[in-house]
Amino acid sequence: MKVVLVNPRGFCAGVRMAIDVVDQVLDILPNETLYVFHEIVHNRHVVTRFEDQGVVFVESLDEVPEGSIVVFSAHGISPAIRKQAKERSLTAIDATCPLVTKVHSRAIRYARQGYQILLIGHKNHQEVIGTMGEAPEQTQIVECPDCIKDLSIHDPDKLVYLTQTTLSVDDADVIVKALKEAFPNIKAPPTEDICYATTNRQHAVRQIAPQCDLVIVVGSKNSSNSVRLTEIAKNAGTDAKLIDDANGLDPAWYPAGNETIMLTAGASAPEDLVSAICRQLVKDHGATLHLADIFEESVEFGLPLTLKRMMEAQGIDHAGRRVKVEAPIITADEYGTTAVALTISTGTDT
Ligand code: SF4
Repeated sequence: MKVVLVNPRGFCAGVRMAIDVVDQVLDILPNETLYVFHEIVHNRHVVTRFEDQGVVFVESLDEVPEGSIVVFSAHGISPAIRKQAKERSLTAIDATCPLVTKVHSRAIRYARQGYQILLIGHKNHQEVIGTMGEAPEQTQIVECPDCIKDLSIHDPDKLVYLTQTTLSVDDADVIVKALKEAFPNIKAPPTEDICYATTNRQHAVRQIAPQCDLVIVVGSKNSSNSVRLTEIAKNAGTDAKLIDDANGLDPAWYPAGNETIMLTAGASAPEDLVSAICRQLVKDHGATLHLADIFEESVEFGLPLTLKRMMEAQGIDHAGRRVKVEAPIITADEYGTTAVALTISTGTDT
């Protein structure tokens, strides 16, 4: 069996930052109960690990005692939630990914300029709920090309579209094309809203999946970008499975035992879950590991201002602290064996 590990996979800078925020608060205030509004990132393991450290995840701020510390998840929140936190005298630490905040800022700006906003995304996703909350009267959600006929448009020349950051680039393109056909003067955002991490992980799947018998994506079922990776693999003609961890592996997926399997992970999936899958495939099927480096990522984010102030109050120097994700190093201890580079153009190893 050959396992092709692609880079980039797993944590993006936004997820890393959100997890770092919770870790830091636990570290500097060990005796406080820390509340997190919604899952900090959409990964069951990440949430369970924090719950085991005493973090309380809530779906409503009414569940947070007045005066407590609350962290807002990476997916962003609406202004109504921010206001409610203030009314309850909560110390709010905003771990919203800066790339989600960028979409919020655009929604605010276009709403002020009198545009109706067509937000391409999934209506029940936390990020879309948060972005919509910036200008609820002026925003409508578009989930599919068919939904366009149900939109209520005042002026087709004063329209703009925005996009959820974790959509399939292919699906979003189809909707944008349909919007442009329906409303030729619709305005596009100045740059793409779908984020670098989503785009890069999808591109890696599109490139490598056709050379493989199966794609395994590590991620939770409520992780939008993880689900999209499985869809992209299937669209490329290769079956794909989404699993939370090594317990989700099913040998019936690779009956011959000599298959080529692409292994990747959604932006919220920790790397130790990927390495555990490698160890299992090496142990059970003698798998060899092959690295396919598609993109190098160098995006980094700063810590939220409220957290920096809390660190200062504790005498902790945060100067120069930036959140960056490095490509994982493959060791035999962690992954069951070392890896060799995959030469994609010829399909042979070097
Ligand atoms: S997937 Fe993109 S938008 Fe979401 S947290 Fe990561 S970098 Fe930010």
